[in-house]
Amino acid sequence: MAGTEFGAGEIRALARELNLRPTKTLGQNFVIDPGTTAKIVRHAGVEPGDRVLEIGPGLGSLTLALLEAGAHVTALEIDPRLAARLPQTVAERGYKNLRVIEGDALQLTAEQLAEAPSKLVANLPYNVAVPAILRALEELDSLEVVDVMVQKEVADRLAADPGSRTYGVPSLKAAWYGKVSRGPLIPRSVFWPVPNVDSALVRIDRAPAPGTDREACFAIIDAAFSQRRKTLRQSLARWAGSPQRAEEILSAAGIDPKQRAERLSIGDVCAIASHA
Ligand code: SAM
Repeated sequence: MAGTEFGAGEIRALARELNLRPTKTLGQNFVIDPGTTAKIVRHAGVEPGDRVLEIGPGLGSLTLALLEAGAHVTALEIDPRLAARLPQTVAERGYKNLRVIEGDALQLTAEQLAEAPSKLVANLPYNVAVPAILRALEELDSLEVVDVMVQKEVADRLAADPGSRTYGVPSLKAAWYGKVSRGPLIPRSVFWPVPNVDSALVRIDRAPAPGTDREACFAIIDAAFSQRRKTLRQSLARWAGSPQRAEEILSAAGIDPKQRAERLSIGDVCAIASHA
């Protein structure tokens, strides 16, 4: 077993060495509590030999915990100073099986990765968490599990059920890919610098793709929620060509045209797409 101690002291020393001032723009809040990184790894069910993609490894707290669990990690980091330092941090503690890619998670492509990952495990930069998750699921067919730490409200939104106040575009798009479940809350005290929001884990277990085309479903989701207070007959009018046509499609799909978007399940969206 390699050396894992990587807590507040080590992280502050590394930040001093790099003359690093964490930026809000890049969502740089680093986990300084080894108990938390171990919890994320457990929640994701990481096993020896798993091919894991980590987005935003930062100074390496979660990366080290993933390597300790025996994963083969590809880490994608946008900040060149952090991407350049990570291999050394890992090698100094005796770990192997890490590839670092400097790049933007929002531009991720499968071709960038030497190995097809089965899991995405990350403490995501909060301002781009939802697009980063959706991009990874879209680009990487190999992903079976996404288990990430995000702002608590974002975790709630992703895992929300139809009809709830927080249900919306992210909930439906994530549900297109599989089963979404909210994980434990993570207190803000485990980060440096301390953020002004609480965090939570959220997990997506990929299911076989619904028979209906993703882009067709996503266009319906975007249209329905662009006017979430209106009835579906109204909000889907432009997408369908007219309110009458929207009504016809909804009725054929077995959905009440007077219903609002927040009641739509992903099954309903697929039914609408297949009757369009
Ligand atoms: N994983 C580390 C940890 O738990 O301590 C750092 C997490 S920090 C919340 C987010 C990290 O994502 C930072 O290292 C930041 O530089 C990086 N980042 C921000 N935007 C990114 C993007 N678009 N693509 C890849 N990495 C990004």
